[in-house]
Amino acid sequence: MTIFNLGSINADLVYRVPHLPGAGETLAATSMSRGLGGKGANMSVAAARAGAHVVHIGAVGEDGQWASNRLLEYGVDTRHIAVAAEATGHAIIAVDDAGENTILLHPGANWALSETEIDLALELSTARDTFLFQNETNAQRAGAGMASARGLRIAYAAAPFGAEAVAEVLPLLDLLVLNAVEAAQLETATGLPPDALPVRDVVITLGADGCRWINTDTGHAQDIPALPVTPVDTTGAGDTFTGFLVAGLDRGMPMAQALAQANRAAAIMTTRHGTADVIPDLKDVQDSRF
Ligand code: AMP
Repeated sequence: MTIFNLGSINADLVYRVPHLPGAGETLAATSMSRGLGGKGANMSVAAARAGAHVVHIGAVGEDGQWASNRLLEYGVDTRHIAVAAEATGHAIIAVDDAGENTILLHPGANWALSETEIDLALELSTARDTFLFQNETNAQRAGAGMASARGLRIAYAAAPFGAEAVAEVLPLLDLLVLNAVEAAQLETATGLPPDALPVRDVVITLGADGCRWINTDTGHAQDIPALPVTPVDTTGAGDTFTGFLVAGLDRGMPMAQALAQANRAAAIMTTRHGTADVIPDLKDVQDSRF
């Protein structure tokens, strides 16, 4: 089965600086590195590394062929990544010696997705496939609507949180993944606690406390503890969690087992610096000893 992931692709441009620049200041960076990032790309890589067949639906600019190529190297089907007139989405990240950072985000091509392209990608789908999306592209409502009409399982990670974006897709969802902050924001916006949401499976990630699964059909709620690790960088842990969770469900794993695997992959991710390029694979997860 296939996971169709409508998602962002970003270049993470990380500049090491002696201090964070002030207004009007020109500052020489001591080093620079370019990595693949964006919640969409991270989730595609995670799901592919978890063994799923993943079709990424997205867009890069003329300057983004390397990003598509890297997704391809990680086993993601990149045929439906369009080349837009806008620049590839990017994050300009300055990190000082104390580890403090500033981030400048430009969504660029991620906001230039065409509904026709999404429809074209979904022509390959069957009702046994999954449609996954997040909040870093345009056309999310349209994409989820098309996938829902075709009978796919609809999975959504409500990040970065936007009350309007969530409200318009909520009735379409089979699976909603949120962190604790987003869950509180959603409750404020809708007035509904997680167990009263119109979504069958709600998963709330809880950082070092693992995650909570609520099946709103049965009222069953279950906490799955995190693995005991010493995190060095939690960037991308949530994306890794969602990618592994959706991949596990796609393979027919029971929810509790897919969540345990997602916790394990995300815990490993917190012990590594970087984003898409360091997401663990199934073997790392199976071999891990905690
Ligand atoms: P968060 O977005 O912080 O809720 O984290 C997402 C997932 O990453 C959690 O559900 C855990 O599986 C994992 N995770 C995050 N922080 C830690 C930690 N300190 N120790 C172990 N696992 C973690």
